[in-house]
Amino acid sequence: MAATLVFVESAEGKIRSTSLEAVAYAHALGNGVTAVALGTVDQPELESLAKYGAQKVLHASDARLDQGIVQAYSSVILKAMQDENADVLVLANSSLGTPIAAKVAVKSGASLASNVVELPSTANGTFTVKRSIYTGKAFSVVELTSVKKVIAIKKNAAELKEVGGSAQVVPFTPALTDADFNATITSTEKATGEVLLPEANIVVSGGRGMKGPEHWGILEELAKTLHAATGCSKPVSDMGWRPHHEHVGQTGVKVAPQLYIAIGISGAIQHLAGVNSSKCIVVINKDADAPFFKAADYGIVGDAFDVLPKLTAAIKAAK
Ligand SMILES: Cc1cc2nc3c(=O)[nH]c(=O)nc-3n(C[C@H](O)[C@H](O)[C@H](O)COP(=O)(O)OP(=O)(O)OC[C@H]3O[C@@H](n4cnc5c(N)ncnc54)[C@H](O)[C@@H]3O)c2cc1C
Repeated sequence: MAATLVFVESAEGKIRSTSLEAVAYAHALGNGVTAVALGTVDQPELESLAKYGAQKVLHASDARLDQGIVQAYSSVILKAMQDENADVLVLANSSLGTPIAAKVAVKSGASLASNVVELPSTANGTFTVKRSIYTGKAFSVVELTSVKKVIAIKKNAAELKEVGGSAQVVPFTPALTDADFNATITSTEKATGEVLLPEANIVVSGGRGMKGPEHWGILEELAKTLHAATGCSKPVSDMGWRPHHEHVGQTGVKVAPQLYIAIGISGAIQHLAGVNSSKCIVVINKDADAPFFKAADYGIVGDAFDVLPKLTAAIKAAK
Protein backbone atom coordinates (compact mmCIF):
# COMPACT_ATOMS: atom_id res chain seq x y z
CA MET A 1 0.00 0.00 0.00
CA ALA A 2 1.21 3.55 -0.78
CA ALA A 3 2.56 5.68 2.04
CA THR A 4 0.22 7.96 3.97
CA LEU A 5 0.71 11.62 3.11
CA VAL A 6 0.84 14.15 5.94
CA PHE A 7 0.51 17.90 5.47
CA VAL A 8 2.77 19.56 8.03
CA GLU A 9 2.13 23.15 9.00
CA SER A 10 4.91 25.51 9.99
CA ALA A 11 5.32 28.99 11.40
CA GLU A 12 8.50 31.04 11.22
CA GLY A 13 10.43 28.06 9.89
CA LYS A 14 9.35 25.68 12.66
CA ILE A 15 6.96 22.74 12.31
CA ARG A 16 3.85 23.07 14.48
CA SER A 17 3.54 20.50 17.27
CA THR A 18 0.03 19.53 16.08
CA SER A 19 1.59 18.53 12.75
CA LEU A 20 4.15 16.35 14.56
CA GLU A 21 1.15 14.56 16.06
CA ALA A 22 -0.26 14.15 12.55
CA VAL A 23 3.01 12.48 11.50
CA ALA A 24 2.87 10.19 14.57
CA TYR A 25 -0.77 9.34 13.75
CA ALA A 26 0.12 8.51 10.13
CA HIS A 27 3.07 6.39 11.30
CA ALA A 28 0.72 4.36 13.48
CA LEU A 29 -1.35 3.53 10.38
CA GLY A 30 1.59 1.36 9.38
CA ASN A 31 1.99 2.09 5.66
CA GLY A 32 4.95 4.47 5.87
CA VAL A 33 4.78 8.25 5.92
CA THR A 34 5.57 10.94 3.39
CA ALA A 35 5.27 14.47 4.75
CA VAL A 36 4.72 17.58 2.66
CA ALA A 37 5.87 20.97 3.98
CA LEU A 38 5.19 24.29 2.27
CA GLY A 39 6.99 27.62 2.21
CA THR A 40 10.13 28.49 4.15
CA VAL A 41 10.92 25.80 6.72
CA ASP A 42 14.27 25.25 8.46
CA GLN A 43 16.14 22.21 7.13
CA PRO A 44 16.74 20.64 10.59
CA GLU A 45 12.99 20.92 11.23
CA LEU A 46 12.24 19.03 8.01
CA GLU A 47 14.79 16.36 8.91
CA SER A 48 13.40 16.06 12.43
CA LEU A 49 10.11 14.72 11.05
CA ALA A 50 11.90 11.37 10.80
CA LYS A 51 11.83 11.17 14.59
CA TYR A 52 8.06 10.72 14.44
CA GLY A 53 8.02 8.31 11.52
CA ALA A 54 8.34 10.26 8.23
CA GLN A 55 10.51 8.45 5.70
CA LYS A 56 10.32 11.11 3.05
CA VAL A 57 9.65 14.85 3.24
CA LEU A 58 8.53 16.78 0.15
CA HIS A 59 9.44 20.44 0.53
CA ALA A 60 7.64 22.95 -1.70
CA SER A 61 9.80 25.96 -0.81
CA ASP A 62 8.19 28.47 -3.23
CA ALA A 63 8.25 31.74 -1.21
CA ARG A 64 4.66 32.47 -2.27
CA LEU A 65 3.70 29.52 -0.05
CA ASP A 66 4.91 31.39 3.04
CA GLN A 67 1.32 32.61 3.22
CA GLY A 68 -1.19 29.90 4.12
CA ILE A 69 -3.45 30.33 1.07
CA VAL A 70 -5.98 27.48 1.09
CA GLN A 71 -6.29 27.23 -2.70
CA ALA A 72 -2.52 27.10 -3.30
CA TYR A 73 -1.89 24.70 -0.42
CA SER A 74 -4.65 22.38 -1.61
CA SER A 75 -3.19 22.32 -5.13
CA VAL A 76 0.26 21.38 -3.80
CA ILE A 77 -1.16 18.67 -1.53
CA LEU A 78 -3.33 17.19 -4.30
CA LYS A 79 -0.28 17.02 -6.58
CA ALA A 80 1.73 15.35 -3.80
CA MET A 81 -1.07 12.78 -3.26
CA GLN A 82 -1.02 12.06 -6.98
CA ASP A 83 2.77 11.80 -7.31
CA GLU A 84 3.11 9.67 -4.18
CA ASN A 85 0.06 7.58 -5.11
CA ALA A 86 -1.18 8.24 -1.57
CA ASP A 87 -4.72 7.20 -0.72
CA VAL A 88 -4.73 8.69 2.77
CA LEU A 89 -4.01 12.29 3.79
CA VAL A 90 -3.61 13.12 7.48
CA LEU A 91 -3.45 16.69 8.75
CA ALA A 92 -4.12 18.71 11.89
CA ASN A 93 -7.67 19.94 12.52
CA SER A 94 -6.48 23.54 12.61
CA SER A 95 -7.86 26.76 11.15
CA LEU A 96 -5.71 26.11 8.07
CA GLY A 97 -5.98 22.30 8.05
CA THR A 98 -9.78 22.15 8.16
CA PRO A 99 -10.54 24.10 4.95
CA ILE A 100 -7.68 22.36 3.16
CA ALA A 101 -9.06 18.97 4.23
CA ALA A 102 -12.48 19.89 2.79
CA LYS A 103 -11.05 21.19 -0.49
CA VAL A 104 -8.71 18.22 -1.02
CA ALA A 105 -11.51 15.75 -0.20
CA VAL A 106 -13.86 17.34 -2.76
CA LYS A 107 -11.20 17.52 -5.48
CA SER A 108 -9.96 13.96 -4.95
CA GLY A 109 -13.31 12.32 -4.23
CA ALA A 110 -12.07 11.24 -0.81
CA SER A 111 -14.11 10.40 2.30
CA LEU A 112 -13.48 13.11 4.88
CA ALA A 113 -13.46 12.94 8.67
CA SER A 114 -12.57 15.98 10.76
CA ASN A 115 -12.10 16.28 14.53
CA VAL A 116 -10.81 12.70 14.67
CA VAL A 117 -9.71 11.72 18.17
CA GLU A 118 -8.34 8.18 17.85
CA LEU A 119 -6.54 5.86 15.48
CA PRO A 120 -8.94 4.15 13.06
CA SER A 121 -10.36 0.70 13.49
CA THR A 122 -9.90 -1.52 10.46
CA ALA A 123 -11.85 -4.56 11.71
CA ASN A 124 -13.57 -6.68 9.01
CA GLY A 125 -12.03 -4.67 6.20
CA THR A 126 -13.76 -1.43 7.24
CA PHE A 127 -12.06 1.86 8.09
CA THR A 128 -13.86 3.62 10.90
CA VAL A 129 -12.81 6.65 12.88
CA LYS A 130 -14.07 8.24 16.07
CA ARG A 131 -14.91 11.95 15.81
CA SER A 132 -15.54 14.51 18.50
CA ILE A 133 -18.88 16.27 17.89
CA TYR A 134 -21.18 18.84 19.53
CA THR A 135 -18.16 20.86 20.73
CA GLY A 136 -16.68 17.84 22.49
CA LYS A 137 -19.84 16.68 24.28
CA ALA A 138 -20.28 13.51 22.22
CA PHE A 139 -18.51 11.21 19.79
CA SER A 140 -19.60 9.74 16.49
CA VAL A 141 -18.11 6.72 14.76
CA VAL A 142 -17.84 7.15 11.01
CA GLU A 143 -16.93 4.60 8.34
CA LEU A 144 -14.86 6.04 5.50
CA THR A 145 -15.85 4.06 2.43
CA SER A 146 -13.93 5.74 -0.41
CA VAL A 147 -10.52 4.43 -1.39
CA LYS A 148 -9.13 7.89 -0.77
CA LYS A 149 -9.45 9.27 2.73
CA VAL A 150 -8.74 12.62 4.36
CA ILE A 151 -8.38 12.58 8.15
CA ALA A 152 -8.13 15.82 10.13
CA ILE A 153 -7.02 14.96 13.66
CA LYS A 154 -7.74 16.76 16.88
CA LYS A 155 -4.91 17.50 19.29
CA ASN A 156 -3.91 14.40 21.33
CA ALA A 157 -5.42 11.94 18.78
CA ALA A 158 -2.06 10.17 18.65
CA GLU A 159 0.74 9.76 21.13
CA LEU A 160 3.71 11.89 20.13
CA LYS A 161 6.21 9.05 20.33
CA GLU A 162 9.73 9.24 18.90
CA VAL A 163 10.38 6.26 16.63
CA GLY A 164 13.79 7.27 15.23
CA GLY A 165 14.91 6.75 11.65
CA SER A 166 15.96 9.20 8.97
CA ALA A 167 14.03 11.05 6.31
CA GLN A 168 14.97 11.99 2.81
CA VAL A 169 14.11 15.67 2.18
CA VAL A 170 13.17 16.15 -1.48
CA PRO A 171 12.47 19.50 -3.21
CA PHE A 172 8.93 19.55 -4.55
CA THR A 173 8.06 22.02 -7.31
CA PRO A 174 4.51 21.49 -8.57
CA ALA A 175 3.32 23.95 -11.20
CA LEU A 176 1.15 26.61 -9.57
CA THR A 177 -0.91 29.17 -11.46
CA ASP A 178 -2.01 32.69 -10.57
CA ALA A 179 -5.46 31.23 -9.88
CA ASP A 180 -3.91 29.27 -6.98
CA PHE A 181 -3.07 32.56 -5.30
CA ASN A 182 -6.59 33.94 -5.42
CA ALA A 183 -6.37 35.43 -1.93
CA THR A 184 -3.69 37.43 -0.15
CA ILE A 185 -3.26 37.79 3.58
CA THR A 186 -2.84 41.54 3.98
CA SER A 187 -2.09 41.62 7.70
CA THR A 188 -1.68 39.17 10.54
CA GLU A 189 -2.21 39.77 14.23
CA LYS A 190 0.29 37.66 16.07
CA ALA A 191 -0.58 35.83 19.26
CA THR A 192 1.58 36.91 22.16
CA GLY A 193 3.04 34.65 24.84
CA GLU A 194 5.71 31.98 24.70
CA VAL A 195 3.29 29.08 24.28
CA LEU A 196 0.54 29.19 21.65
CA LEU A 197 -2.90 28.52 23.09
CA PRO A 198 -4.25 25.99 20.51
CA GLU A 199 -1.06 23.91 20.80
CA ALA A 200 -0.45 24.15 24.53
CA ASN A 201 -0.23 21.08 26.73
CA ILE A 202 -1.10 23.18 29.76
CA VAL A 203 -3.44 26.18 29.81
CA VAL A 204 -3.87 28.56 32.74
CA SER A 205 -7.04 30.54 32.19
CA GLY A 206 -8.63 33.41 34.09
CA GLY A 207 -12.15 34.77 34.34
CA ARG A 208 -13.94 37.77 35.77
CA GLY A 209 -13.02 36.52 39.24
CA MET A 210 -9.51 37.89 38.58
CA LYS A 211 -11.10 41.34 39.08
CA GLY A 212 -9.00 43.28 36.56
CA PRO A 213 -6.05 43.17 34.15
CA GLU A 214 -3.69 44.49 36.81
CA HIS A 215 -3.99 41.17 38.66
CA TRP A 216 -2.89 38.94 35.78
CA GLY A 217 0.71 38.88 37.00
CA ILE A 218 0.04 36.07 39.49
CA LEU A 219 -1.74 34.05 36.79
CA GLU A 220 1.12 34.61 34.33
CA GLU A 221 3.63 33.59 36.98
CA LEU A 222 1.82 30.26 37.41
CA ALA A 223 1.67 29.82 33.62
CA LYS A 224 5.38 30.56 33.29
CA THR A 225 6.23 28.07 36.03
CA LEU A 226 4.24 25.36 34.25
CA HIS A 227 5.39 26.41 30.75
CA ALA A 228 1.70 26.92 29.99
CA ALA A 229 -0.27 29.16 27.65
CA THR A 230 -2.62 31.73 29.13
CA GLY A 231 -6.34 31.84 28.28
CA CYS A 232 -9.40 33.70 29.51
CA SER A 233 -13.19 33.78 29.47
CA LYS A 234 -15.10 35.85 26.91
CA PRO A 235 -16.04 38.79 29.16
CA VAL A 236 -12.39 39.16 30.11
CA SER A 237 -11.35 39.67 26.48
CA ASP A 238 -14.50 41.73 25.73
CA MET A 239 -13.52 44.14 28.50
CA GLY A 240 -10.02 44.36 27.06
CA TRP A 241 -8.36 42.83 30.10
CA ARG A 242 -6.71 40.25 27.83
CA PRO A 243 -6.20 39.99 24.03
CA HIS A 244 -9.00 38.40 22.01
CA HIS A 245 -6.84 35.49 20.85
CA GLU A 246 -6.84 34.22 24.46
CA HIS A 247 -10.63 33.94 24.60
CA VAL A 248 -11.54 30.28 25.15
CA GLY A 249 -14.95 28.77 24.47
CA GLN A 250 -17.72 28.24 21.98
CA THR A 251 -17.04 31.56 20.26
CA GLY A 252 -13.30 31.54 20.92
CA VAL A 253 -10.39 29.08 20.82
CA LYS A 254 -11.18 25.44 21.52
CA VAL A 255 -8.38 23.85 23.48
CA ALA A 256 -7.55 20.22 24.27
CA PRO A 257 -4.57 20.38 26.64
CA GLN A 258 -3.39 17.73 29.08
CA LEU A 259 -4.19 20.18 31.87
CA TYR A 260 -6.62 23.14 31.96
CA ILE A 261 -6.54 25.32 35.06
CA ALA A 262 -9.57 27.63 35.34
CA ILE A 263 -9.26 30.48 37.82
CA GLY A 264 -12.23 32.65 38.74
CA ILE A 265 -14.30 31.32 35.83
CA SER A 266 -17.89 30.32 36.62
CA GLY A 267 -18.10 27.49 34.04
CA ALA A 268 -20.87 28.72 31.75
CA ILE A 269 -21.83 26.23 29.07
CA GLN A 270 -20.31 28.45 26.36
CA HIS A 271 -16.95 28.40 28.14
CA LEU A 272 -17.08 24.64 28.77
CA ALA A 273 -17.68 24.07 25.03
CA GLY A 274 -14.10 25.18 24.41
CA VAL A 275 -12.42 23.17 27.16
CA ASN A 276 -14.24 19.88 27.61
CA SER A 277 -11.73 17.96 25.49
CA SER A 278 -9.04 18.73 28.09
CA LYS A 279 -7.55 15.62 29.70
CA CYS A 280 -7.62 17.07 33.22
CA ILE A 281 -9.47 20.15 34.48
CA VAL A 282 -8.56 21.95 37.69
CA VAL A 283 -10.93 24.65 38.92
CA ILE A 284 -10.08 27.37 41.43
CA ASN A 285 -13.12 29.35 42.51
CA LYS A 286 -14.20 30.93 45.79
CA ASP A 287 -17.81 29.83 45.25
CA ALA A 288 -18.21 26.12 46.08
CA ASP A 289 -21.40 26.09 43.96
CA ALA A 290 -19.73 27.41 40.79
CA PRO A 291 -20.94 25.20 37.90
CA PHE A 292 -17.34 24.62 36.71
CA PHE A 293 -16.74 22.26 39.65
CA LYS A 294 -19.14 19.75 38.03
CA ALA A 295 -16.81 19.51 35.03
CA ALA A 296 -13.61 19.48 37.12
CA ASP A 297 -11.29 16.59 37.88
CA TYR A 298 -9.86 18.56 40.80
CA GLY A 299 -11.23 21.62 42.51
CA ILE A 300 -9.93 24.16 44.98
CA VAL A 301 -12.55 26.25 46.77
CA GLY A 302 -10.68 29.40 47.65
CA ASP A 303 -9.79 32.96 46.80
CA ALA A 304 -7.59 33.09 43.70
CA PHE A 305 -5.45 35.83 45.24
CA ASP A 306 -4.66 33.56 48.13
CA VAL A 307 -4.40 30.25 46.25
CA LEU A 308 -2.37 31.26 43.17
CA PRO A 309 0.84 32.51 44.85
CA LYS A 310 0.85 29.45 47.14
CA LEU A 311 0.28 27.07 44.23
CA THR A 312 3.05 28.67 42.16
CA ALA A 313 5.45 28.57 45.12
CA ALA A 314 4.62 24.90 45.77
CA ILE A 315 5.21 23.96 42.10
CA LYS A 316 8.51 25.86 42.07
CA ALA A 317 9.57 24.06 45.25
CA ALA A 318 8.58 20.68 43.79
CA LYS A 319 10.63 21.39 40.68
C1 LIG B 1 -23.78 33.32 22.39
C2 LIG B 1 -22.81 33.33 23.55
C3 LIG B 1 -21.52 32.88 23.34
C4 LIG B 1 -20.61 32.89 24.39
N1 LIG B 1 -19.35 32.41 24.19
C5 LIG B 1 -18.48 32.36 25.23
C6 LIG B 1 -17.18 31.81 25.06
O1 LIG B 1 -16.78 31.38 23.97
N2 LIG B 1 -16.36 31.76 26.14
C7 LIG B 1 -16.74 32.24 27.37
O2 LIG B 1 -15.94 32.17 28.31
N3 LIG B 1 -17.97 32.75 27.55
C8 LIG B 1 -18.84 32.83 26.51
N4 LIG B 1 -20.06 33.39 26.70
C9 LIG B 1 -20.36 34.04 28.01
C10 LIG B 1 -20.74 33.03 29.08
O3 LIG B 1 -22.12 32.77 29.02
C11 LIG B 1 -20.41 33.58 30.47
O4 LIG B 1 -21.05 34.80 30.65
C12 LIG B 1 -18.91 33.79 30.72
O5 LIG B 1 -18.20 32.60 30.41
C13 LIG B 1 -18.67 34.14 32.17
O6 LIG B 1 -17.35 34.53 32.33
P1 LIG B 1 -16.62 34.37 33.75
O7 LIG B 1 -16.79 32.98 34.23
O8 LIG B 1 -15.26 34.93 33.60
O9 LIG B 1 -17.42 35.43 34.64
P2 LIG B 1 -18.52 35.20 35.78
O10 LIG B 1 -19.67 34.42 35.29
O11 LIG B 1 -18.78 36.55 36.34
O12 LIG B 1 -17.78 34.32 36.87
C14 LIG B 1 -16.75 34.76 37.68
C15 LIG B 1 -16.41 33.65 38.64
O13 LIG B 1 -15.30 34.03 39.40
C16 LIG B 1 -15.51 33.57 40.73
N5 LIG B 1 -14.73 34.47 41.62
C17 LIG B 1 -14.97 35.76 41.93
N6 LIG B 1 -13.98 36.24 42.71
C18 LIG B 1 -13.11 35.23 42.88
C19 LIG B 1 -11.88 35.11 43.59
N7 LIG B 1 -11.35 36.13 44.26
N8 LIG B 1 -11.24 33.91 43.56
C20 LIG B 1 -11.77 32.85 42.89
N9 LIG B 1 -12.92 32.92 42.22
C21 LIG B 1 -13.58 34.10 42.20
C22 LIG B 1 -17.00 33.70 40.97
O14 LIG B 1 -17.42 32.82 41.99
C23 LIG B 1 -17.53 33.28 39.61
O15 LIG B 1 -17.78 31.89 39.55
C24 LIG B 1 -21.00 33.39 25.66
C25 LIG B 1 -22.32 33.84 25.86
C26 LIG B 1 -23.21 33.81 24.82
C27 LIG B 1 -24.60 34.28 25.06
